[in-house]
This record gives sequence, C-alpha cells and structure tokens, in this order.
Amino acid sequence: MNHLPPLIDIPFDLRHQCWFCAEPSNDVFSYYAKASTPHPSLTLPACSECARLAKKNLLTSIWDCRDAVKDDLMQIYHKDLAIGINWTEEELAESGFDCRILSGFKESAWMMYNIAKGRINAKGWPLVLNGIDIEQGYSAVFEFDGLQFNSLNKAINHYCDTLALNKSLLCEILNIVGKDKFSYAVRLCRMNIGITKEHQKLLIEHVQEEFT
Ligand SMILES: [Zn+2]
Repeated sequence: MNHLPPLIDIPFDLRHQCWFCAEPSNDVFSYYAKASTPHPSLTLPACSECARLAKKNLLTSIWDCRDAVKDDLMQIYHKDLAIGINWTEEELAESGFDCRILSGFKESAWMMYNIAKGRINAKGWPLVLNGIDIEQGYSAVFEFDGLQFNSLNKAINHYCDTLALNKSLLCEILNIVGKDKFSYAVRLCRMNIGITKEHQKLLIEHVQEEFT
C-alpha cells in the first residue's frame, strides 16, 4: 500500500472491520484531500461494498462520505430493514410459517434484518492518523438557509429535489470547494441546469483551477 495515503490507526480489536459498517473488511478505501478538505488524505479498511459506495460519495470529508454510504446502504437493504418494521422477533417466531417457503423466510429474514441494521448503526471508530486525533470539532449536523439537516447528504438531496439540480454536479463541486461554500455550489448548479456531460467536465475543471 506504499502508493496510498497513510492508513488510519486501527484499534487492535477492530483490525478486521470495515470502518463504515463493521462487517469484515476485505478492501481499503482512500480519501484524497482537496485544499478545502478538513483532514489530510487517508486510507481506511473497508468491505468491498462500502469502498465502492464511498468512491461515488466523496462529498467534503470522510465523515460526510460515511453518512452518504449509510444512506445508500439503507436504500439498497430497505427490504431487509422493513422486516424489523413489519415484525417483531417473537411475532415472526410464532407466525405459524411452517411450510417450506415460509419457514425459510422466517429463519433468514430476521438474520438479514439484523445484519442490515448492524451495518447502518455501526459508527466506526474516531479517526486518528499517526497518533493525532483528526476528528476534533467535527459535527455531522449541517445548517443552511435556516434549515438544519442531520448530514450534508440530506441537505444535498433536499436541494436537488426542490430545485431540480444535477446531484452528481453538485457533489463534484462540493468536493472541491468544501461545505462552507454550499451556497456557491448550489448557485453554480442552478445556473447550469440541463448541462451536457462535456460542459459539466469543463465547469469542474474551471472550479478546480479557481480553488486550488
Ligand atoms: Zn462496509
């Protein structure tokens, strides 16, 4: 891993865990810091699914990225998570699902629900890089225009829905300019609704020149 950014400090008892979801890690994910990123470039242990989701959800920091990975996991596993909304474990055990198909559901559904729930609730561990705590002062709560959001990703989804913005463009701009310039990023997207892929690439290049 010589060519990757430094690996974060990993507590010994968590050394086989994905930082995002606590499932066994079989991959790593590297976050490359931009000028606006509030932490240095770093590498984390991850499962292959979280690593893949993280790559398309860089946003403005590793923590915003984690919130977005959780939102994606919730969407991917919404059927498994619905089991826990529709059933309690006792109800499922006493459901009288005795035919082969239904008893299969009974046995596997609760397990799938627990795995999905555990992955979404997993908090990872505080980020320490070469002995230095880099998580100090970070808060997931994001406020903009008098509205409070539980995460930057929730704010992005809200503004993309209400203003019909191009989400991938907004995310790419935010990754460069940082969340302090959220209003600038939204304004730029509002001026470029319906933009072609080529024009989008050009715009990102200009923003990159401006902010690095
Ligand atoms: Zn994971």
